[in-house]
Amino acid sequence: MALAPNVYDAEPIPDTARAEIDRLLQSGDLFRYTAPENAPVALLEQEFAALMGSKYALAVSSCSAALFLSLCALDLPKDARVLIPAFTFAAVPSAVVHANCLPVLVEVAGNYRIDMEDFAAKLPGADAVIISHMRGHTSDMDAIMALCDAAGIPVIEDAAHSLGTTWNNRKIGTIGRVGCFSFQSYKLVNAGEGGILITDDADLVARAVIMSGAYEHNWKKHAVLQEVFARWQNRLPLYNMRMQNLSAAVIRPQLAEIARRVRDGRANHDYVATALNSSPWLHVPDALPPEQRAPDSIQFNLVGVETDDAARAFARAAEARGVKVQVFGLSTDNARAFWNWNFIPGDTPDLPQTRTMLMRACDVRLPARLKREELDFIADALISAAEDAMGEERAYGT
Ligand SMILES: *Cc1c(COP(=O)(O)O)cnc(C)c1O
Repeated sequence: MALAPNVYDAEPIPDTARAEIDRLLQSGDLFRYTAPENAPVALLEQEFAALMGSKYALAVSSCSAALFLSLCALDLPKDARVLIPAFTFAAVPSAVVHANCLPVLVEVAGNYRIDMEDFAAKLPGADAVIISHMRGHTSDMDAIMALCDAAGIPVIEDAAHSLGTTWNNRKIGTIGRVGCFSFQSYKLVNAGEGGILITDDADLVARAVIMSGAYEHNWKKHAVLQEVFARWQNRLPLYNMRMQNLSAAVIRPQLAEIARRVRDGRANHDYVATALNSSPWLHVPDALPPEQRAPDSIQFNLVGVETDDAARAFARAAEARGVKVQVFGLSTDNARAFWNWNFIPGDTPDLPQTRTMLMRACDVRLPARLKREELDFIADALISAAEDAMGEERAYGT
């Protein structure tokens, strides 16, 4: 029998990173503000902004830091209400709490996208919105922006896992007031840790630059309108969430790899999705028509699976066949299950739609580097596992 593919190892970092890392190690020049100009972090910011077609970029220590600084830069009142989708990673409500705001959770439908009825109902009274494109799934950005623009409510895009996704040919992360990305190892560009925010708003980025730790006049080393900084000098706290030069040296050569990773990841995903949809037990929801995905994993729902035990039996059968499946709502202490976010003030909200989805939604890694045989192995294992776990029940049950 063929061996199960390794879906955990990262791609090697491009060789061209080596010379720059050597140079930095030789000189010891690791702090972004030591060199008078052209520090690797500053160059990364210029290159990333150009790649995305945004005016400004600020590289920081993580996407969580980018989300936190974005909220701070919006200058919201204490206990401001920030709408977030109820299906996201715990880092998102954490950033909201960290910024002294209150997360308000919005229902997510069976297709992993924000339920627009619940969104519209909860929007009045909100001070800001974070749209988390969880696992790269894009909610209806046209409807969201129309509602938020009409109400004058700023939108932050959490595009941690959406680099390369487009909506009506617009790059995800450039639709809201600010977009935040992650360079943590499980994302499309891998620096171990790191994040970046992009925006066209000079005032917002100036505030974020200072709060990220541009103390004294270090803001002069940012490619941002210099006159706005005078307004904020000495008036904002410094949270020191800067990126260091070694991270930028690892990230910059990967920018040229993004297009290939997006293309291969999308082809892999669509190939496996077609196979899984041939099973009566498995369903991969369609993207909304304006979305072009950039996936490095696949999510699907178990269909007609009545009990949690049957869903667990499926996950066990898949593992026995060499493919690890996470059912978001069934693994203990899962960081993507909203009922585990006990650090949010108040009681766990009642979100029956999202809860139902999480109890049957499965997650399988599908890195862009996988080959056809490996994709076939994964699809066959999942389809056979569904037969193992549910087929018998159907044959004898009714
Ligand atoms: C990974 C991820 C984050 C957090 O990114 P970090 O860089 O690890 O802080 C936030 N939101 C989503 C949707 C993510 O996938």
